Amino acid sequence: MTQIFDNPADFADDALDGFVAANRGYVARVDGGVVRSTEVPAGQVALVVGGGSGHYPAFAGLVGPGLATGSACGNMFASPAAGQVYRVAKAANAGGGVLLSYGNYAGDVLHFGQAQLRLNAEGIETRTVTVTDDIASAPIEQLEKRRGIAGDLTVFKIAGAAAEAGLNLDDVERLAIKTNYRTRSLGVAFDGCTLPGAKDPLFHVPAGQMSLGLGIHGEPGISEHPMPTASELAELLVAKLLNDKPEDAGHRVVAIVNGLGTVKYDELFLLFGKIEKLLTSAGLTVVEPECGELVTSLDMSGLSLTLLWLDEELEQYWAAPADTPAFRKGSMSPRAARTETTADDAEAADVEQPTPAAAELGRQAVAILAQVRDVVVEHVEELGKLDAIAGDGDHGIGMRRGVDAAAAASEAAAGSSAARILTAAGEAWSERAGGTSGALWGSALIAAGLSLGNRETYTSEDAAAAVDAFVSAITELGKADPGDKTMVDALLPFRDTFLTELDGGAPVDRALAVAAAAAESAAAKTAELRPLKGRARPLAEKSIGHPDPGAVSFGLIAARISQFIYSQLATDSQLATASSAAAAGNGARA
Ligand code: ADP
Ligand code: MG
Repeated sequence: MTQIFDNPADFADDALDGFVAANRGYVARVDGGVVRSTEVPAGQVALVVGGGSGHYPAFAGLVGPGLATGSACGNMFASPAAGQVYRVAKAANAGGGVLLSYGNYAGDVLHFGQAQLRLNAEGIETRTVTVTDDIASAPIEQLEKRRGIAGDLTVFKIAGAAAEAGLNLDDVERLAIKTNYRTRSLGVAFDGCTLPGAKDPLFHVPAGQMSLGLGIHGEPGISEHPMPTASELAELLVAKLLNDKPEDAGHRVVAIVNGLGTVKYDELFLLFGKIEKLLTSAGLTVVEPECGELVTSLDMSGLSLTLLWLDEELEQYWAAPADTPAFRKGSMSPRAARTETTADDAEAADVEQPTPAAAELGRQAVAILAQVRDVVVEHVEELGKLDAIAGDGDHGIGMRRGVDAAAAASEAAAGSSAARILTAAGEAWSERAGGTSGALWGSALIAAGLSLGNRETYTSEDAAAAVDAFVSAITELGKADPGDKTMVDALLPFRDTFLTELDGGAPVDRALAVAAAAAESAAAKTAELRPLKGRARPLAEKSIGHPDPGAVSFGLIAARISQFIYSQLATDSQLATASSAAAAGNGARA
């Protein structure tokens, strides 16, 4: 249980500030996390790691030469927001591209994914390798669905060493993928952990019991066992991991015994000794092992075993030196302090100079976002009720939080281009909304904004590209297929109709009206579908006969934007007619 804090809500931020104060020779604070405070050679690949706070040394403790270049640090056990990842990556970038690496959790995938889209769109080449080492979280045939636990360390370490050695982004990515593929972990818990300020632990393991495969945030385990002896525990962990070994496993392995928070080092060492013997008698050679706290879970009582099956190349990078606040290996030549203030530079590079015409288009984007806010506010309750049928009931309030923040951010940015308005709105939306739909809406607005760019006029091709970018962001990040019963079932008909109408020569307002009608009727039709993605999946049967909340909200928003644009055009053309009549009148008089 944590007891040292002023305000529990500020725990993660305050702890990170203090961590930086204690490690200025290694790290500097940026908005959203930390980056190295030492010089990074120009052209070196930047390894940006991250995730929720509460897992120290993961993730900020692993920033330094030979390991990570930066870490995006979310709230306690919560993914960093996309904007945080983006800012950390921008500050970490040294011109060689960015590799994002983090444990495979839905929230992190959405937020890091959104940051990646944005970085790539800005010309900073960015790739992702998610860590999927936890064998308890999915069967081996579904390796890509497994979540990441202490295997973070092997993937980060080898990718970081490869970057330090000057390898290019392709090779650093390839090594990270290979390391992840050859890494397996399994954890056990003896008792739960308590979030700062909370009265009760997130979960409990009954006294005298051990939960096998329990996740680092209390996700359910795969089985409960009476508390074993150390030798029995060692046998269990080793047997399960060896049973799950990668196809082309060799005979040399890294073994990591990781404490999750309150297990004493003496206990970890005791267990490590037993594990090493078992591995050796299974014919394996243990290479440069680790035993200690590497990826923790606040004050959780538990531990995990990780094995990485090495090959020659991986062994070279595992053995390479690294020097970070929490992880040191070998000896590294001292690094000069980084001179520039990275966060400010990242901001400075962003300053745009819109022309008056571009700023006027930006103002129209602000007006459209205000309409989006109004229509969401009008339907908050209805959307919440729909989501409560088979989901968690928060779609109305989640959308409202997101859209309120987005509309406010767009107003604050008024005077800039439509691109800037939409990216600011998208960032605010995903940062404030929480939930899946918020992250997706945020990404989609940013993608549409980046596609529009800072321009003085937009053609119908530009409108088509922006709609396509909006929809693609959602399908790429959310990975829902048509028929899964998500907002994608309204988005695809919307996009396809819009593009077909434009191809057929319809003006943008007309194409939008037809597309919005298609979205609304497709949203209504989702009532027939059974949910296959998102939180409604476990209660699939209940949802039949009711439309998907995300599809419904999209249909409502599309319809409102279309009506608004139509009314604007009507006003504009009345004005135009009036002024040309006036001009004609003037002409007649002249
Ligand atoms: P949460 O599901 O996190 O509670 P919301 O309730 O705000 O978030 O949003 C639920 C909606 O999000 C669903 O109705 C669905 O339309 C959409 N959604 C969920 N998962 C996905 C996905 N993977 N891709 C696209 N849309 C999704
Ligand atoms: Mg919900």
